[in-house]
Formats: sequence, C-alpha cells, structure tokens
Amino acid sequence: MSGITIALSKGRIFDETAPLLEAAGIAPVESPESSRRLIIGTNRQDVRLIVVRASDVPTYVQYGAADLGIAGKDVLLEHGGEGLYQPVDLNIARCRMMVAVADGFDYERAVRQGARLRVATKYLRVAREHFAGKGVHVDLIKLYGSMELAPLVGLADAIVDLVDTGNTLRENNLKPVEEIMPISSRLIINQASLKLKRAALQPLIDGFASAVTA
Ligand code: AMP
Repeated sequence: MSGITIALSKGRIFDETAPLLEAAGIAPVESPESSRRLIIGTNRQDVRLIVVRASDVPTYVQYGAADLGIAGKDVLLEHGGEGLYQPVDLNIARCRMMVAVADGFDYERAVRQGARLRVATKYLRVAREHFAGKGVHVDLIKLYGSMELAPLVGLADAIVDLVDTGNTLRENNLKPVEEIMPISSRLIINQASLKLKRAALQPLIDGFASAVTA
C-alpha cells in the first residue's frame, strides 16, 4: 500500500488522539468510536485509519500492516518494541503503573519478611522486572482484565495495574502501595516505513509533535 495507514484503538486513547490527528490535518470520515468498520477513511486520499485492540497496535506496526500507531507505554513494554521507532511521547492517556493490595494487607511487612507474593497482572514483563529489581520473590498470574478482583477472592496478594484517578481501587477496597512508572501514549513508526515513506510520514510526525508541544 503506497498510502499511510495509522493504527489506533478505541476508548481512552482515541478520545485524546482525535485532537492530535486534527492538528496533523487528518479528519476521519466517520467516528471510530461509533462505527463498526475496522478500516476508516480520512479527509486525505492517502491516509486511512485501522481500529485494533490497544495491545495489538505495536504488532500491526511492527509487521508494517500499519505505518504509524499510537500505543501506551504499558503496551509497548509488554510488546518489547521490536521493529518500532518511538519518536514522540504524545503525553496523552496519562496514568501510573502501580502495585496495589487489599486494604488490610501489610505489603511493606510482607516485603520486609521476604514473603513470596502472588501477583496477578496483565503486565508480566513489567511486573517481573519490577519485583526482580526489588529482590522480591513473586509468582506471577497472568490475567486479561479486571485485575482488581484477584486480591478480593484470594487469587493473589497483589496486582500490578494502571491507575488513573484511583477510583477503581477505592471502590474495590484496594490501596496503591508502590508506583512502578508513569505511563503515557507514544507515537510509534514502522522502521522500514520511515525509510521508504519518509517524505509522506515526516510532515505527520512533525504535526503530531508540534500538537503535543502546543
Ligand atoms: P481509575 O479508576 O481512574 O484509577 O482507572 C483505573 C482503571 O482504568 C483500571 O482498570 C485501569 O486498567 C484503567 N486505566 C487507567 N488509565 C488507563 C490508561 N491510560 N490506558 C488504559 N487503561 C487505563
């Protein structure tokens, strides 16, 4: 495909991406939020959007099925980032990757005592590195969603998840005990596309970058 394909996910990231697309001169012909189409045209003949699961965005871009994508740092760390340039931190969909436990659980004490912790998460790589760095032994349990439930039903002692307002934790009687890292979404680019389609891509990259600083 000679045009440019941009991979996006619906929801939180798209809401905050729309103004950046607009600033880069791209207007979808229909809203990815309400449409069931997975390929959406834009005001530009040579630019189309594809709508994929957030965690699949790096994969589409890595293999060149999309030239550009927008993905959270959480997703990029789990993917590994192979074959991708990550030139611009878009500073959107900001939140924190945190360790959380049930209200009554004394995390500090468990860590001090060298207890082996069961940790449920979608973010295995991040969690493994975090606890290895602290010298805490963990059994990781992979989940695909609703991590907050795990400590409540005895599946895990702790979870590693994204926290924004903290409301989800509070409503489930959990508390954050450790920040692992701040998270935001990044523009990602297929490395081969950047070489082959530089003339077409560079103005878009610059458009995103200047929309972020503005
Ligand atoms: P909150 O209740 O505002 O702290 O939001 C927490 C819930 O939203 C958790 O289920 C998170 O996995 C999810 N969440 C928060 N921020 C993000 C984000 N930037 N991207 C994706 N999911 C998020």
